Amino acid sequence: MTITSESGTASTVLGYPRIGPDRELKRATEAFWAGRSSASALHEVAAGLRRETWTGLRDAGLGQVPGNTFSFYDHVLDTALAVGAVPARFAGETDHLERLFAMARGRPGAPACEMTKWFDTNYHYLVPELAPDTPLAPSSRKALEEFREALRSDVLTRPVLVGPVTFLLLSKPAEGAPDGFRPLDLLGPLVEVYRDLLAELADAGAEWVQLDEPAFAADRTEEEIAALRKAYDRLSAAPRRPKLLVASYFGELGPALPVLASTGVEGLALDLVAGRSDLDGIESVEGIGRKQVLAGVVDGRNVWRTDMDDALATASRLVGVAARVEISTSCSLLHVPYDLAAEQNLPADVVDMLAFARQKVDEVVLLGRALHEGRAAVAAEFDTARATRERVAAASRRNESVRSRLTALGADHYGRGAGDVRAKAQREALGLPDVPTTTIGSFPQTPEIRKDRAAHRSGRIDDAEYTGRMRREIARVIELQEGIGLDVLVHGEPERNDMVQYFAENLDGFATTEFGWVQSYGSRCVRPPILHSDVSRPEPITVEWARYAQSLSTAYVKGMLTGPVTILAWSFVRDDQPLGDTARQVGLALRDEVVDLEASGIRIIQVDEPALRELLPLHERDRQAYLDWAVDSFRMAVGGVADTTQIHTHLCYSEFGEVVGAIDGLDADVTTVEAARSRMEVLADLGPGVPRGLGPGVYDVHSPEVPGADQLTDQLTEALRHIGSERLWANPDCGLKTRGETETVEALTHLVAAARRVRETT
Ligand code: GLN
Ligand code: ZN
Repeated sequence: MTITSESGTASTVLGYPRIGPDRELKRATEAFWAGRSSASALHEVAAGLRRETWTGLRDAGLGQVPGNTFSFYDHVLDTALAVGAVPARFAGETDHLERLFAMARGRPGAPACEMTKWFDTNYHYLVPELAPDTPLAPSSRKALEEFREALRSDVLTRPVLVGPVTFLLLSKPAEGAPDGFRPLDLLGPLVEVYRDLLAELADAGAEWVQLDEPAFAADRTEEEIAALRKAYDRLSAAPRRPKLLVASYFGELGPALPVLASTGVEGLALDLVAGRSDLDGIESVEGIGRKQVLAGVVDGRNVWRTDMDDALATASRLVGVAARVEISTSCSLLHVPYDLAAEQNLPADVVDMLAFARQKVDEVVLLGRALHEGRAAVAAEFDTARATRERVAAASRRNESVRSRLTALGADHYGRGAGDVRAKAQREALGLPDVPTTTIGSFPQTPEIRKDRAAHRSGRIDDAEYTGRMRREIARVIELQEGIGLDVLVHGEPERNDMVQYFAENLDGFATTEFGWVQSYGSRCVRPPILHSDVSRPEPITVEWARYAQSLSTAYVKGMLTGPVTILAWSFVRDDQPLGDTARQVGLALRDEVVDLEASGIRIIQVDEPALRELLPLHERDRQAYLDWAVDSFRMAVGGVADTTQIHTHLCYSEFGEVVGAIDGLDADVTTVEAARSRMEVLADLGPGVPRGLGPGVYDVHSPEVPGADQLTDQLTEALRHIGSERLWANPDCGLKTRGETETVEALTHLVAAARRVRETT
């Protein structure tokens, strides 16, 4: 067996899932955290997964297999550890694994590193913390060790590292760093560390190393682009190093492309799915003729089968332009599930549409052969692929009644009457006190509820039994809230596994998978539904639960729905029509539900949009169009009710600055937001920007600490500095499903006491 590649990069993927086809790494890691298994048991599982990945990718026919794509938690954290960027509070920890998990999860006296979204994906990374005195130096040898380990399995890998400039752009100043310090100030010393790491990899026999610079797919300043030039001029001048492949993804490189092409790096990986415009005029980019270019034509972000003819044509545009062209995925396959073959229960016509990570590898291999051996060599495979696509095209994804209803609904159906008129109507109709108290929707999900749902799913209990058990839980939660004295109640969401999956399971146009897990962060995985066809609501979804809950109380019970943007954000969404069109279909399906809730006597309806900020495009120029359809689809959902019906929305994540205009555009009567961690700072923007009801969360539901009544009174008093008591609501800052029952009751009791105090003094 030969384990050296030809001098080219050869068809490849930029990265691969690492949690294990059956979430083996999640289970092993959580067992280790819980003290149920040893570090060596965890290492054994990890080594097995790495080996399977390397040999599996090699045997699938990839010309080059990426290395260092494994991670115990997060690849940005791994990079921080590789370059010695360890915050002082973790410096005392000597064991590598303990330190890694301490940085990720915190330990007594040393809070975890901050976690945030990896560009516009649902993956979350740990934010590196840097200061002028951070002792940057080659530290963990993970990339090197895994390179050697792969060699022992006869696979010559191309180690992948987060590139130095993206690493710095994703970092934040450590606490105590001097004013004015920016992580990018450390570029010089950091690049020297990378030079050392590259030398070690070269010595070990690495032919290529991949440095990921996805930060350059977003808008960047001239200074940042200059930093990119400086970094790669210096790295490519290193005396001892493997060939360098710089990979960018999630968009086009734009102005960074000629800069990278002018440096001495040997290869560039382009995202030709999200950043196809990089091809325009690429033939006149100085230096491109000396580069090997990886054409990222197989979408790494989505689960749809590739249009092979189109992909081949796209990649072929680089032939004769670059020194050598290879096929790749647009980005790492980290963002898609492992293997479609594991799904036994998907309808055949949906299977025809799909390709998961393993299938995408086959597509890359086939396209690589088509490119190098000529299309005739793979004619049969291309014919099969084309026939499947034609089947998909023929089996209509269209629902004509949805389409004609959408066409018929003109602009006046998207909005409601004037906000102040509604506020007055609602004050009279609902008669709520000032500073009303409420919660965000879910109540603690007890082990019994989870068991009941599983039993129902597997058929061990029938519909009637299941409905009875859920009703008992709803009745219990209603009684609990009445006892606490909350003004606006919720049914508690016991019937929902997940706020998006639940609606996906009950709407037409979606499929859900059994094993389609993708990593969200650390050991946390999600199973995004697949939105493949026109969306509609075959029958009411939440109405019976809400009506039942309302029948038990004279207090108002809020109806509880997930909004169109959030449903799209947490699903794999069809890419054969604009996202806005799909969002409006979801909005229309929800509108039916909202209208039915109102008709069944529900006076307050909440439509959650926690992901509104999350889907914001990376490029400024794309943002307004996104915000327009986001707002439209929400207004479509809620636009069918009377002025006296009160519409709430809920948003999480504390950075709202860029979307205040859109939040105002949603035109909800009441907006509840996460605010506790920022001590009500969000109100400075939202108070004037969203001139209706506001419920800034007064305590953090992610913390196990029970807030006292004094503390909550302070928070409400602080909020009143920004908005009047007729607009203020008192609520926690998100749903309570992950909390325990006792702490929840205590916290809400304090919340009610605090709201009463504040009412008395205003
Ligand atoms: N209504 C949902 C809940 O309370 C909202 C969750 C969220 O904002 N992520 O669980
Ligand atoms: Zn929330």
